[in-house]
Amino acid sequence: MSAAAPLLEVSNLCATFAGAGREVRAVRGASFTIEVGQTLGLIGESGSGKTVTGLAILRLLPAHASVSADRIAYRGENLAAMSDDEFRRLRGVELGMIFQDPAGSFNPAKRIGWHLREAIRRRGGEVERWEAEAGDMLREVGIRMPQRVLGAYPHQLSGGMLQRALIAMVFLLRPALIIADEPTTNLDNLVERQILALIRAHQAKVGAAILFVTHDLGIAGALCDRIAVMYAGEIVEIGPAAAVLERPLHPYAQGLLATSRSLERADAELHELPGEPGGVPPEQGCAFAPRCIHVMAACRERHPAMTEVEPGHGARCLLHER
Ligand code: SF4
Repeated sequence: MSAAAPLLEVSNLCATFAGAGREVRAVRGASFTIEVGQTLGLIGESGSGKTVTGLAILRLLPAHASVSADRIAYRGENLAAMSDDEFRRLRGVELGMIFQDPAGSFNPAKRIGWHLREAIRRRGGEVERWEAEAGDMLREVGIRMPQRVLGAYPHQLSGGMLQRALIAMVFLLRPALIIADEPTTNLDNLVERQILALIRAHQAKVGAAILFVTHDLGIAGALCDRIAVMYAGEIVEIGPAAAVLERPLHPYAQGLLATSRSLERADAELHELPGEPGGVPPEQGCAFAPRCIHVMAACRERHPAMTEVEPGHGARCLLHER
């Protein structure tokens, strides 16, 4: 790895699903980097392509999806050149995953203890003392009776407990990069706050980088160093979290923030983005044009390029092109 290489570099990532006589371009030319120990938030409405981006990087999309990229590099090494076996070894050890539905990450026929022991074995840790290490990690993620959880099957735990067990499993692997896809969406507010605090504490302790997929701008602001805003499969704005949240450049990001703030303030008049999320973007011009309150004639003709407006903070919008 060269000194200057980011931990993860993604350039011009595209993911397309074929079916029912048409193609859905779920991710269209996404490019970003994540540095060691950094958290990048991917935010956007449902159907914006943020989850598909994470799954495409991890080669977890179904067979009817086609994925291409100019480059996906981990520690400077081109992932596209790896065989499936080589990639599988990397995924789940160097690249950890925390999904919204923790049940899918466990074998229902095996106890939680078996999964945690496997994580220690895969990492190359001391399998002989797995029980002590797994118990300590379960305590670290807020499980007070680790022995009970180690002996339980996944279906015997509540959603919050299972999510904690999954986080413990991922932390035991000590991955350098964790991809977390809406990991707290199905949990109540208290458990959500506890789990986010755990992720932050673990990150501070071991220096893991995180790609955090969320539709919640409050979470993104609390957790992320940088934020990428996705719309219709494209990254339409990217920059330091404080800059994106305080000075959003793209009309879509501005609308998302205005909606989120009016919800926080419980405004009598809720700010709503015009139009429906997840529609098919126009063939030509700016994907956001059908919903944009600033749309101009040129927006329907020319696809905007990503333009850096201030250091490290750019948007894909003709209003900012020079
Ligand atoms: S390019 Fe035009 S339509 Fe697209 S976001 Fe900017 S102003 Fe709106």
